[in-house]
Amino acid sequence: MTTLTQDPQLLETLNKMDAQRLLSWGAEYHGKRAGIITSFQDTGCVMIDLAKKAGVDPRVLTIDTYRLHPETYRLIEEVEKRYGIEVERFGATPEKVEEMVKDYGEYLFFDSKRMQEYCCHIRKVEPNEEALKTLDVWYTGLRRDHSEGRKETPKASYVQGPKMGQHILKIAPLADWTTEQVWDYIKENDLPYNDLYDQGYASIGCIICSTPIRPGEDKRAGRWRWFNDENQGGGGDKECGIHKG
Ligand code: SF4
Repeated sequence: MTTLTQDPQLLETLNKMDAQRLLSWGAEYHGKRAGIITSFQDTGCVMIDLAKKAGVDPRVLTIDTYRLHPETYRLIEEVEKRYGIEVERFGATPEKVEEMVKDYGEYLFFDSKRMQEYCCHIRKVEPNEEALKTLDVWYTGLRRDHSEGRKETPKASYVQGPKMGQHILKIAPLADWTTEQVWDYIKENDLPYNDLYDQGYASIGCIICSTPIRPGEDKRAGRWRWFNDENQGGGGDKECGIHKG
């Protein structure tokens, strides 16, 4: 296992870089230990395109919860064809999903926040950890304007990896981009994108757990909508666990 030494000066440098330079930096210094983990939302498509335009053949990894929208599965194939890449899919351990469903039912996430987090843990967090074991540099599509909880997102930070003593450089190249910038880029470059955005979705995850939003709502208000009252409008803890901590 390789592990990174935490370097505050490097962080300072990275936090000043623009998105495209950040995406080429990982390949330059960490080769195939750098990768984009994406759920194929708007920012994922932009990151892949920016990396390709920077001359990088990026590793692209995705978490398959087995509950994604058909539109998302179609988009993954479209992106693979367009860029000539093979997306690396990480899914939950089938036995663990079976056990969870047997114990709590297929729709346990409706029951309580704790059950939603448990489902996300099995279907998302654990496969994400498997993906992270293969990386030193983790590119993510987090942006500051996604929600209150993400407004301080740095472009670069060190996070604890899933392996004992593993440090990972987590880079959010589009952290300071606005929704408008992202969509201008998508349209100007004729990028493929998830059709659900044309149906009112602003944040796309699993089927049932992500829904369209109304004008003026927080971008993540459509996630686990049945918990919105409890969370005072959905601006609070609307995370699945992958980006906590
Ligand atoms: S988003 Fe919903 S279905 Fe997907 S892993 Fe989380 S709770 Fe389970």
